Amino acid sequence: MSEVYFIDVKKGVPIIEKLETLLEKVGVGSLNGIIALKMHMGECNNKTFVKPLYVQKIVEAVKNHGGDPFVTDTTTMYKEERYTAMDYYRTAYAHGFLPSYLGCPVIIADGLKDEGVQVNEKVEIARSIYDSDSMLVVSHATGHYPSSFGGAIKNVAMGCVTKKTKMYQHEVTRPVRNPDLCTDCDNCRAVCKQDAIREDHELILERCIGCGSCISECESGALKLPEDMSEKLQNRLAEVAHAVLKNLPYSNFVFVNFLIDITPFCDCAESAPEYISPDIGVLASKDIVAVDMATIDMIGKHLFKGDPTVQVHEAHRLGLGMREYEIVRV
Ligand code: SF4
Ligand code: SF4
Repeated sequence: MSEVYFIDVKKGVPIIEKLETLLEKVGVGSLNGIIALKMHMGECNNKTFVKPLYVQKIVEAVKNHGGDPFVTDTTTMYKEERYTAMDYYRTAYAHGFLPSYLGCPVIIADGLKDEGVQVNEKVEIARSIYDSDSMLVVSHATGHYPSSFGGAIKNVAMGCVTKKTKMYQHEVTRPVRNPDLCTDCDNCRAVCKQDAIREDHELILERCIGCGSCISECESGALKLPEDMSEKLQNRLAEVAHAVLKNLPYSNFVFVNFLIDITPFCDCAESAPEYISPDIGVLASKDIVAVDMATIDMIGKHLFKGDPTVQVHEAHRLGLGMREYEIVRV
């Protein structure tokens, strides 16, 4: 059984006042050297990412315990405002993730050229995360199209790797096209930013990143999601999270999940108008499986689209951690 530490918002004490205690309890002092503070700093027009106010406090706590942190994330596969490192720096700064405010550098981990370290046939870890000495993973717990749930496992799997490895995970989300239903309206080609649809409306698979934009525009129903997509994607998330955590040249990790502003979609999306759950608090553990299991249990499995636990069970099966946990309130 793994310990999962918990700040309960219902107790009425602001989260910010308990963050350092939470980190002390979970063992932030065991993180040493250069510490990658793995975040998602929010896509342009997203408002629900974990705020710099909290990150500043986490940076302060890490430094108080002798660590030398930097805030980090990787560039996206899709072409929006975090597609290149330069795009991402502009977006991060606009969202308040300024080194002068945070008290530490902000470094886009795959660098200017999306550079990584190949650790197996499929997985390339972003360079600066590989070159760190420890990692503190800060995740915003959300629903997620198309993997049902996004927490620590997804943050590590999708967020610590280069575009090539993101593509490997997302290839199971590529649309399926039924040519008999296609009306040749061309809507799909107009919306696809990857230029992944031919003039005859067949998909160019090696270009498709499985973003799903064309499906939303296909009024005839010719384009559909693959039926077993969620399960396949969640299994790949667990597979890649396992490859990352087992192949980094260090094994000091802490996972912190924020269960606030719990949206149906992840922070790559524009903020949704409604939440799927009221605010709950913050969880922290050294066990990535336990922290995500506790997160899903506290939010309520039934509030997600599909089964959010597939990735947790798979990560457990691969040996990343335990599904049984004990909640320790701080
Ligand atoms: S899912 Fe559709 S819109 Fe997205 S990259 Fe693939 S073909 Fe283009
Ligand atoms: S949007 Fe759908 S119906 Fe229109 S061309 Fe593309 S696949 Fe065919």
